[in-house]
Amino acid sequence: MCAKAAVASRSAASLQSVRCSRKYRVHHTRISAFKRSGLPLKALFSIVLVLLSPGALAGWQEQTEAIMGTRVHVEFFADSQSGTDVLMSEVMREMHRIDHAFSPYKPDSELSQLNSRAGKDWVVVSDEMMDLLTKAHQIAELSEGAFDVTYASVGRYYDYGEGKVPDAETIQAAVQAIDYRYVERDRRGSRVKYGHPWVYIDLGGIAKGHAVDRAIDILVRAGITQASVSAGGDSRIVGDRGGEPWTVGIQHPRKTEEVSALLPLTDTAVSTSGDYERYFEKDGVRYHHILDPNTGKSARGSWSVTVLGPDATFTDALSTSVFVLGSTKGLELINRLPGVDAIIIDPYGQLLFSDDLTDIAN
Ligand code: ADP
Ligand code: MG
Repeated sequence: MCAKAAVASRSAASLQSVRCSRKYRVHHTRISAFKRSGLPLKALFSIVLVLLSPGALAGWQEQTEAIMGTRVHVEFFADSQSGTDVLMSEVMREMHRIDHAFSPYKPDSELSQLNSRAGKDWVVVSDEMMDLLTKAHQIAELSEGAFDVTYASVGRYYDYGEGKVPDAETIQAAVQAIDYRYVERDRRGSRVKYGHPWVYIDLGGIAKGHAVDRAIDILVRAGITQASVSAGGDSRIVGDRGGEPWTVGIQHPRKTEEVSALLPLTDTAVSTSGDYERYFEKDGVRYHHILDPNTGKSARGSWSVTVLGPDATFTDALSTSVFVLGSTKGLELINRLPGVDAIIIDPYGQLLFSDDLTDIAN
């Protein structure tokens, strides 16, 4: 099955509709040709053995793990295999660390601690938490409140696994605690306080993108120039894939085995938000995990939104924002932002492109 915006290793010349056929090329191994080298046969044999020994092979490394409630996939090219296992472990460890810090499901996470105390008093937070809350605040302003981490003041009462919807009274009361301005940040004192006692925040719309960016930072600092990291619908790619662009497929929102478009990409972040990822249906109504902060109910303006941009923290939060805004306001926002593009699948199943992509698609 295709992930909702999976990075695949096929190339595609243009945006196109195809059936999903994601294949991963596992290893590209560079074996030099020893043509007429003039070396004695025995010496040549031992050189070949050294080159083929696992410690010396250049190639693609990849690993997949379940982290942050999703599929994390890391793939990179290394000139030599020495140290690649350590590098891969470092990347995965970082993803687990971020999961532990920002998970709303782990009672000892920094996020859970904040939620249990910041409604009453100032709480000292890590620099990372402050940074992420500041970015979330910026996107909230940019999207005029469509992106709002306090959505969870109501969101916490939904249970998509159990098919549970809060009753009208609960929504009506808890929606009063949705307003990103309630998250007060004292940046000098590294402290956070909630301006309403019922506020509850969730960073599910931005933390996966942050984790992807942190993973890419680790790889780039280690000298990697071709890589892809994805966490569910949030991906970032560095360089190309052996001379070809990476291909990102956008899953068809209603036909799980199909992709609606393939995007050939290099050096970019890409995030997809969809109403098909976490949802249940009751009496013919689809209840899904992206809530409109104005109503405390699932946003209805899109089926799926894919955003391309410079980093995954930004594209993650923006794809959620545009999803809530719907196609008209969402595309207005994207077209105002330099270096950012979007592909929306609206509630009629139509593909809509931001201005720069419209030229490529036609
Ligand atoms: P996914 O988590 O499947 O990658 P998104 O990036 O669109 O999808 O994020 C959806 C998540 O964002 C939800 O699971 C929830 O944690 C959070 N969220 C839902 N609605 C909002 C909103 N209006 N503003 C900010 N975050 C939201
Ligand atoms: Mg998102």
